[in-house]
Amino acid sequence: MSSYIGAIDQGTTSTRFMVFDHDGNEVARHQLEHEQIMPRPGWVEHNPTEVWERTRAVIESALTKTGLRAADLAAVGLTNQRETTVVWNRHTGRPYGNAIVWQDTRTDRIAAALDADGRGDIIRRKAGLPPATYFAAGKLQWILDNVDGVRAAAEAGDAVFGTMDTWLLWHLTGGVDGGVHVTDVTNASRTMLMDLETLDWDDELLSFFDIPRLMLPRIRPSGNPALYGVTRADGPFQGEVKLAGVLGDQQAATVGQLCFRPGEAKNTYGTGNFLLLNTGHELVRSEHGLLTTLAYQFGDAKPVYALEGSIAVTGSAVQWLRDQLGIISGAAQSESLAAQVSDNGGVYFVPAFSGLFAPYWRSDARGALLGLSRYSTNAHVARATLEAICYQTRDVVEAMTADSGVELGVLRVDGGVTGNKLCMQLQADILGVPVSRPVVAETTALGAAYAAGLSVGFWNSTDELERNWQEDQRWEPGWTDEQRATGYAGWQKAVSRTVGWIDAN
Ligand code: ADP
Repeated sequence: MSSYIGAIDQGTTSTRFMVFDHDGNEVARHQLEHEQIMPRPGWVEHNPTEVWERTRAVIESALTKTGLRAADLAAVGLTNQRETTVVWNRHTGRPYGNAIVWQDTRTDRIAAALDADGRGDIIRRKAGLPPATYFAAGKLQWILDNVDGVRAAAEAGDAVFGTMDTWLLWHLTGGVDGGVHVTDVTNASRTMLMDLETLDWDDELLSFFDIPRLMLPRIRPSGNPALYGVTRADGPFQGEVKLAGVLGDQQAATVGQLCFRPGEAKNTYGTGNFLLLNTGHELVRSEHGLLTTLAYQFGDAKPVYALEGSIAVTGSAVQWLRDQLGIISGAAQSESLAAQVSDNGGVYFVPAFSGLFAPYWRSDARGALLGLSRYSTNAHVARATLEAICYQTRDVVEAMTADSGVELGVLRVDGGVTGNKLCMQLQADILGVPVSRPVVAETTALGAAYAAGLSVGFWNSTDELERNWQEDQRWEPGWTDEQRATGYAGWQKAVSRTVGWIDAN
């Protein structure tokens, strides 16, 4: 039997390929960034062809470095940045322009119109999502309405839609030469087009965005014993490997953190933050600004749902300190700079660069630094940035408790920002709950590997995975209740100053 499972992780800033053994240990990895294209304020694009080239390259390099071959892999899983939208021609393989990335806000008018005439409530009920620029349907509508020839090509069955999972699966299984056109339930649940109960595209939702059904992929379970397909011998694996698991990145991290029981939650700190709470087979509709989404569906089993708090800007606020303000030279330096002061000195930073996502959903908010005085320094700004990551998480945790009644006993964390110990300590202080980080920090890739490995019997059950999870570090809350309450009140006041900044027209 093949000894390993591979995982492709196509993220917002980079693509990596990793290989894991039966104990969940990493045995190979290669990672490459791709260009962030920002042609206008609020627009964020990726070149889909570049992303496919990077995917090929990371697979080839990781296998070459370690001497592994297709036959050593029992299966491969795929996980991806969600919502990012590509349209391409199925006969030529050429995309109709760049992919529109989840952070892109060009569809703000499309999103606002949905709430003006009542369609928004139908989307909330059927798709579990508040109308927002974040989700794929508005981006797809924008391409159909604005890129020459796409609508006619879509109606003729030539132009097809996909999120990054679909685009890569199509290439891996042959592309113009018989590539499969499929997605999984978790990715489909981020479009505003899938009914959460039927797990199929919904004609009424499609009509809201004027999207031809013909261009949509087939929706499959995320862990799929029937396979998504098999890789091609002339592709980057240079042989046939089973593609057996697909999950959106945050759902993959939920699986990688082994949140299989209702009430279990994880928080991933990357470009943005994404907290997911497993709600089991129950579809919980949020009344406090969270999303209802698919956590995963393995084979024929009933789907498992989640409540999600999505925050657009967390780690990317640290990148902004580096790239735009130039007050740090690398992300890790945010920790040493913030540690130069013992508190925020009254400074709050609300990084509402793409408006505010959960739990506010205000696309008219924009970023602000508040509470500045002559006393304020770069160190206060750095500390306020780390605190903003933690306060935004507190907002989402409060909403989650209000919706579900579940009080968090401990917060399981992962992602790039969790390397920042000061930030994790602040998180425990601000939440009043311990924060725990596992040994394998690459939970996203690991989750995709688990989905694929469970599908082909490499692992027999989720119970078997439990022994692979080990705590690396834990942070206990230190602040007094009064410090916590005063700090949070300041944050809420700061947020209230940022909403409504952009005029509607
Ligand atoms: P993604 O998968 O979204 O690309 P990652 O999990 O790789 O994200 O994390 C990258 C993000 O983490 C970047 O936005 C970066 O600014 C941030 N980051 C990385 N290391 C640190 C650190 N030590 N302190 C604060 N932020 C960090």
